[in-house]
Amino acid sequence: MSTESSVYFFFVDGIGLGPGGAHNPFDRDGLEGFSALSGSDRLISDQFEELHESGAVSRAIDANLGLEGLPQSGTGQATLFTGVNCAELAGRHYGPFPHSTSRPVLKERNLFGMVGPERSAFANAYPERFFRWAEQRDRWPTTTRCCLDSGVRIRTLDDLRSGDAIAADLTGRGLGAVAESPVQPISELETAKRIAGLTRSHRLVVSEYFHTDKAGHAQDHQKADSCLLSIDRYLQALIETLDFDSTTLVLTSDHGNLEDLSTKTHTRNRVPLIVRGPGSTHFRGVKDLTGVYHGILASLGLSASA
Ligand SMILES: [Zn+2]
Repeated sequence: MSTESSVYFFFVDGIGLGPGGAHNPFDRDGLEGFSALSGSDRLISDQFEELHESGAVSRAIDANLGLEGLPQSGTGQATLFTGVNCAELAGRHYGPFPHSTSRPVLKERNLFGMVGPERSAFANAYPERFFRWAEQRDRWPTTTRCCLDSGVRIRTLDDLRSGDAIAADLTGRGLGAVAESPVQPISELETAKRIAGLTRSHRLVVSEYFHTDKAGHAQDHQKADSCLLSIDRYLQALIETLDFDSTTLVLTSDHGNLEDLSTKTHTRNRVPLIVRGPGSTHFRGVKDLTGVYHGILASLGLSASA
């Protein structure tokens, strides 16, 4: 068994820290996984407290990156995966796909490339239709663009069936509804076990959850609740299954959205950065999306030139 350190980066699209109230689905009881990991009772701005313990860090970080307007996924995610302020580079917030000015930066220094393609895994499984759509238009979301740029395999439904990948919606129920072939739903605990397995054979494991952003745009309270409860079960399962002696869990987002269902747009709220494990100390000074990348590399004993 390897004693090498690893990082699991759980990227959740479109969750910010906003004021409590009826419009904020985080303002509820029963999100025990979020509470246990963050150290705050609720992930709402008036209750969130920064945490700086050895082995656990929680911060509220800026996603606006010095620009006006609403932050977007293309530039936000490219920033998370390169440590470069890609919104500044583009001169604006841009999305959902990477801006043309982000593409060379992604190619040169994305997380997968820095850690190495053999030692990196992107755990999400994609259906056939995703590949057809993206190939025809040459439009790949940031995570899959990073895979293509650095030679990391993009996993398929076959990988999902053999237990080597996870569904973006964590259980496969959402993926099963759009997939060309049957997807057998599994529990969030089973999904967490798959991730724990990947962290034993890879130094960097990434997965992406995007249904939060979709529920935010749809202003759908029911969908928002089911997303958060599912993620919460998953977080509780990760607490049980990850080996926090060697693995650092990093959860963050690219911009706010879900925390304000009174609007269908993204928000300028800060986003949560929740870290657990031996690399936590490297995230203590992270103030905005640019710092997450450097924290992940430092946790693995690597660094990138500024
Ligand atoms: Zn969005």
